[in-house]
Amino acid sequence: MTMVAVIGKLRGGPIPTRLQRVSWIVMSAATAREVIDACRLLAGFSEEPGRTTRTFLSPPMRGVHAYLAAWMQRVGMSVRVDDAGNLRGLYPASSPGRPRLFIGSHLDTVPNAGAFDGVLGVVLAVALVELLEQQPLPFSIEVVGFSEEEGVRFGVPFIGSRALIGTIDADLLERADAHGRSVADAIRDYGLDPSCVGNARANDDALGYLEFHIEQGPVLDALALPLGIVTTIVGQSRVTATFTGSTNHAGTTPMHTRRDAVAGAAEWITAVEALAQHTPGLVATVGRVIARPGASNVVAGVCDASLDVRHASDDARATAVESLRHAAREISSRRQLTLHWDTHLDQGSVAMSPALVTALERAVAAQDVPVHRIDSGAGHDAMIMATRMPAAMLFLRSPGGVSHHPDEAVIEGDVAAALGAGLAFLEDLARAHT
Ligand SMILES: [Zn+2]
Repeated sequence: MTMVAVIGKLRGGPIPTRLQRVSWIVMSAATAREVIDACRLLAGFSEEPGRTTRTFLSPPMRGVHAYLAAWMQRVGMSVRVDDAGNLRGLYPASSPGRPRLFIGSHLDTVPNAGAFDGVLGVVLAVALVELLEQQPLPFSIEVVGFSEEEGVRFGVPFIGSRALIGTIDADLLERADAHGRSVADAIRDYGLDPSCVGNARANDDALGYLEFHIEQGPVLDALALPLGIVTTIVGQSRVTATFTGSTNHAGTTPMHTRRDAVAGAAEWITAVEALAQHTPGLVATVGRVIARPGASNVVAGVCDASLDVRHASDDARATAVESLRHAAREISSRRQLTLHWDTHLDQGSVAMSPALVTALERAVAAQDVPVHRIDSGAGHDAMIMATRMPAAMLFLRSPGGVSHHPDEAVIEGDVAAALGAGLAFLEDLARAHT
């Protein structure tokens, strides 16, 4: 299918013949290679030689912005960097006053990252606009490369998408990094104006938000599926459980008189794992344990254990957390320990827009790819954008489930399928808004 034919299809033209569909797939495959090459090239813009680390508005972000801005301009977009450091390319609609579709993901990375987490979603969005060959749609497309999602530099995630929904406040701007530089300082260092962050807010003309992202988990790979349509971004609870007993000598204190905080925490940790293993859809993790005083010859008097609980259902998550709290209390009282339970986070699950999920299902089915719905166990910018507009996410399989690691990868055919699904999704929206 030539691009003219694609556009004809976008405008509600005839259903393509099988031959046209085959050539469309070939065209998407050619572009899929470019998408992967671009992601690998962008991974070279890093704060650390030999590995990819790119935090909020650090110097290498300029190279990423320059590369993507030039590409955006070539394909007919007007480009700016807003005052929260988000790269934004606007592809105009066929006429003024039409609504806007946002497509994006994040451009920052974790330390020693792979080449695809975040960046892939931005590069795919630009490639998708390139496939339109400067033919306008009945809505504009704004591609957003968010400045920050991982929360590495300031310990707070989603600075970029929060600016688009208008929830960056003075407290956040004053938050400091490990070197004492604030978010506002970082914005100024980049040549932007923190007092104008409010101007980054998206207008109220949004049709919705679409994000392509690698799954970052093993589910699609295990099922041998290229794509997954996200229905829900799961809710999270984070707690610190502190068990307090009595510090004493490891050699002279008889076992029956001990009040060992680490032993109590250990019993509880196995209860956490057992509950998650027997509760469908639940994941629960104790990822950090601190024993105090922390010496090999001392019975620990205090033990802090972190708890991270996630489930697509907020009720199921709340029930699990309550059950784990009850278990911690029971273990503590039996072992003559005291328990302190400190809840840091109780974040509800976020549903993707049912209408956009259905449109994505049609778009994926049109690629002759199995339609598979999936929950996202990780947070994403789509979760933030969903508070202001209908949002949808398409996951690409992560080979081996590997992510946040230099070995992170994508499969070229999956990227081609995502591009084809993206075009079909635009076609669907174009029909609805003509
Ligand atoms: Zn990401």
